[in-house]
Amino acid sequence: MYVGRFAPSPTGALHFGSLVAALASWLDARAARGRWLVRIEDLDAPRTEAGAADDILRTLARFGLEWDGTVTYQSRRLPLYRHALEKLAPYTYSCACTRREIADSSLGVAADGAQIYPGTCRDGVAAGKSPRALRVRAAGHVTFTDRLQGRQSQVLERDVGDFVLYRADGQFAYQLAVVVDDAEQGVTDVVRGADLLDSTPRQIYLQRLLRYPQPRYLHIPAAVNAAGEKLSKQTGARAVASSTADLRRALSFLGQPETENLGEAVSKWNPVLIARRRALDAVP
Ligand code: GLU
Repeated sequence: MYVGRFAPSPTGALHFGSLVAALASWLDARAARGRWLVRIEDLDAPRTEAGAADDILRTLARFGLEWDGTVTYQSRRLPLYRHALEKLAPYTYSCACTRREIADSSLGVAADGAQIYPGTCRDGVAAGKSPRALRVRAAGHVTFTDRLQGRQSQVLERDVGDFVLYRADGQFAYQLAVVVDDAEQGVTDVVRGADLLDSTPRQIYLQRLLRYPQPRYLHIPAAVNAAGEKLSKQTGARAVASSTADLRRALSFLGQPETENLGEAVSKWNPVLIARRRALDAVP
């Protein structure tokens, strides 16, 4: 049975980029007669905005993007992440490095802009320093075939380095939580923006260490503004109205025939028509 999901971070109202991700995963799930779950990724407390989760859910409902079961909130699932971290203990180590220290000794910048960790604390935290974060040793070559973007490949230690599973500010990292939740919720198909394509090998790596099944992936182009920035609250993206114009624009962005009727959109859903790009201008 197909199980899909939409996993917004409640940092603001639903904007065009997140509408496109929600619509694509909903259409893919409904076309497969599968289930579609909504999970609010609210672990990053400083970035979470009060009222944003409810606002996103109301907007989805107004568009007619109905979800199955109850909405889950990552902030209420901390014991699951703690348990997974315990299982990963043979592969993790404490890290005392500050951002500044990592930037000063970094091996370079990963595709997603993060510094590649040079492994300073791999063999133990230096005397007099206190552990801040927990990292997992990144090892091996991960390849997978994205349903749209094709074959992807990363040599983890070279391309991303040992990455954080538990942050210095006392929060579980996105990479850990997403893997635990997708497995625990039985997600078979992840449909999301291609800004997360470079995170996928890290997630597959954790799935392997935790002996979880690997979902299928479909990364749609991320919606960018005229300056080439991903739409987000930080880049000033406007909230979508639940208008038929926004629905048509979202379908058109996904290369699908424009319609105001979601049933018709489901029956015509064809992922092959989506542009095979990592980013696409949100304004046609
Ligand atoms: N919460 C993430 C975001 O809003 C998406 C996570 C995912 O789909 O894996 O960017």
